[in-house]
Amino acid sequence: MNKFQLYTFMAVLGTGTLQTAFGQTQTLNARMEKMAENLEKKVVTWRRDFHQHPELGNREFQTAAKIAAHLQSLGMEVKTGVGKTGVVGLLKGGKPGPVIALRADMDGLPVTERVDLPFKSEARTEYNGQQTGIMHACGHDTHVAILMGAAEVLASVKNDLRGTVKFIFQPAEEGAPTGEEGGAYLMVKEGVLENPKVDAIFGLHINSQTEVGTIKYRPGATMAAVDSYAIKIKGKQTHGANPWSGVDPIVTSAQVVMGLQTIVSRNVNLTDNAAVVTVGALHGGIRQNIIPEEANMIGTIRTFSPEAQKLVHRRINEIATNIAESAGAQADVKIDVMYPVTYNDPKLTDQMVPSLEAVAGKNNVKITPAATGAEDFSFYQQKVPGFFYFLGGMTKGKKVEDAAPHHTPDFQIDEGGFVLGMKSLCRLTTDYMEQASKGIAVKELTASGK
Ligand SMILES: [Zn+2]
Ligand SMILES: [Zn+2]
Repeated sequence: MNKFQLYTFMAVLGTGTLQTAFGQTQTLNARMEKMAENLEKKVVTWRRDFHQHPELGNREFQTAAKIAAHLQSLGMEVKTGVGKTGVVGLLKGGKPGPVIALRADMDGLPVTERVDLPFKSEARTEYNGQQTGIMHACGHDTHVAILMGAAEVLASVKNDLRGTVKFIFQPAEEGAPTGEEGGAYLMVKEGVLENPKVDAIFGLHINSQTEVGTIKYRPGATMAAVDSYAIKIKGKQTHGANPWSGVDPIVTSAQVVMGLQTIVSRNVNLTDNAAVVTVGALHGGIRQNIIPEEANMIGTIRTFSPEAQKLVHRRINEIATNIAESAGAQADVKIDVMYPVTYNDPKLTDQMVPSLEAVAGKNNVKITPAATGAEDFSFYQQKVPGFFYFLGGMTKGKKVEDAAPHHTPDFQIDEGGFVLGMKSLCRLTTDYMEQASKGIAVKELTASGK
């Protein structure tokens, strides 16, 4: 809009500063949307390149180099090697205001791709002693490409931005290799939310079973906290023909497995939230006529509140220890706390949903049930208010049961949702800045760590 058009526009609306501000905002939004549409091809090309060359967590060297080069080409201040391979770009707007962080994760998975695509991954590696393919089987390639696109859009309207944008490209969301630190946890530990201090953070996850054009979100607890546990049952080894002269850790383990089933069914208040306790592996013994010395089990825990998490941990300990004791055995219980609950600050969510509706259309923004999967975006949300949402990546009209889930060899994403991904991230950023400049709510927001 040139000056003359702007004046005409104001004349239609009536004059005054409010209309001027409104007019400029409209122009900014329109410019960003147009730019996002123009960038679609470029973003698809980037995505295909990342898809064809996936890298595992903490090993995203080529991915990070390409991202850093792009952010530098946009004139940003760029830091590399944050939290191992993470890349952080800083875009300072022309006007003062809050600092918004936008985050994308970069890692692929040890999955061998089965989808027949021209940009199919042929990458292979050894993982935990096994030969495997590497695949972007969770769609993090799309997150990187979309955020690179959003960075280009926001850089193009830099002078009109009322604040600063911090672009966080994060390694190892799926977990660091054994013995290494990584992911959001490490980036936060290395100060990614400081200097300048982040006021709010936004992130999205593509979804292979949600139609292109749709955005889903949930206020409050959105994805589960995840912990893992290991239980060692120590008995007394004996001949399989004379069980009375030993203590059988296999029978004791079987009782512990059944006992663990009562935690969710009998102890957790399921009217508040769901919870899961899964036994993922159970090993003991070597031969049919030997009762072994010990048996070992490992499993995963999913909860949606600190209270439920504490309760489940306590009950696992009590059940394993006391069942073992009743059998004359002994239980060693180890629980590793992994990712916190992905918690969308309810006030921030309320404040930002209209921005999603503005770019996707009101009917295309839907509330989703909480998911028992986990997401390390939660580590940022422990420190600052954050909002995490899901972007449709399934071809329109396809049946959900025909769309392969994440982490599988047939996982596939329809690229038609990328423009909406860019638009939504950009709009959340500029709307938050606008609201902050009008003094709305920002200070009342709280981080989920409380
Ligand atoms: Zn995943
Ligand atoms: Zn993921």
